[in-house]
Amino acid sequence: MGEFRFYPQNTVWEITFACNMRCLHCGTAAGVVRPKELTTDEAFGLIDELAELGCEMITLSGGEPLLRRDWRELAKRSKQRGMKTYLISNGYVITPQIIEDFKEIGFDNLGVSFDGTEKTHNYIRQRPDSFQRAFNAMKMMSEADLRFCAVTQVSNINLGEMDQIRSLLIEAGCNLWRVQMTTDTGRMSKDLVLSLDNYPKFIDKILEFKKGEQTITVDVGENIGYYGCKGSQLLDGMPYLGCYAGTRVLGIESDGKIKGCLSMPEEFVEGNIRDKSLTEIWNNPDGFAYNRQFTRETASGACNSCRYLPLCRGGCTTTSMSASGERANNPYCMYQMEKKMGVQPVDSEVITNLLNRMVEEEAKHDSKQGE
Ligand code: SF4
Ligand code: SF4
Repeated sequence: MGEFRFYPQNTVWEITFACNMRCLHCGTAAGVVRPKELTTDEAFGLIDELAELGCEMITLSGGEPLLRRDWRELAKRSKQRGMKTYLISNGYVITPQIIEDFKEIGFDNLGVSFDGTEKTHNYIRQRPDSFQRAFNAMKMMSEADLRFCAVTQVSNINLGEMDQIRSLLIEAGCNLWRVQMTTDTGRMSKDLVLSLDNYPKFIDKILEFKKGEQTITVDVGENIGYYGCKGSQLLDGMPYLGCYAGTRVLGIESDGKIKGCLSMPEEFVEGNIRDKSLTEIWNNPDGFAYNRQFTRETASGACNSCRYLPLCRGGCTTTSMSASGERANNPYCMYQMEKKMGVQPVDSEVITNLLNRMVEEEAKHDSKQGE
């Protein structure tokens, strides 16, 4: 296998920490603008540097990105520099004029957060009219023929509403639905995070949607599944290749702090672009070690001896860290759950071939270390 090159292919950028909601599940507990967020000039410089580093996709996120005055300019600059440009919003301030702006800028995709029926969505988002505004935003996007998706954070609060959410999204004209599992980070409290008992019910529900009528496509978040029978079915038998934080994924906070992935806790900050350039931070030979220097020895728990480790590498870092405090010891793993129930995994040919190659690589690496 050729050498795996590190570059920030996919950047998620919190352009402001300000938010007009206080969602119970917010992974960063956003709300009030951070002291000294990046200026427009600094942000332009960052976009140019990302383009030089080979970035292909930028997602403008927050907080609520539309609360930052210059979001249009940042998006335009990103498009001018040839990067696919996305934006994810809670939909609250989206008006017909903003729909026109989205069209003019030419976003490659837009995401609207949508978490439940009216009562549940408003409860999660702690704002009484947030459901209606998000629903209307999607309707306007659909009528304007904009590419968009809905993004749902699934927790114990809204798991039971997945059928209703799906119907509501279809009614709003949405045809792509990204489903993610909420983690115990930021403002989310542990008892609201999907329990280990509820997790298989969640997986079953996604599989049911995938098998049913494809009025709306379900896009499975990268913190869900991992091998076994059902984990592999979620990706239609294609391999799950673990966490790319700090190898192909980059997270930027609104005051210039850099992490491998925006969803990771603050202990994963690698530096601030005000102290060192992004290029220096990215090219630091000791940087992002949890992924760039990941080996079997760094995995613990069941992941340590797992046959899928060369491919999966313990799954989503944020999920594992929030659930076990370790980089690769992930209790939300379908393979391990099925193993405990005595279910034998059935691997597709693609997974089997790739796994064999990875195991050979691992053996070669081990014998070199032993020389
Ligand atoms: S045990 Fe760990 S490495 Fe194995 S499939 Fe599950 S999360 Fe991945
Ligand atoms: S930490 Fe999770 S969400 Fe972030 S890049 Fe890794 S897999 Fe993706």
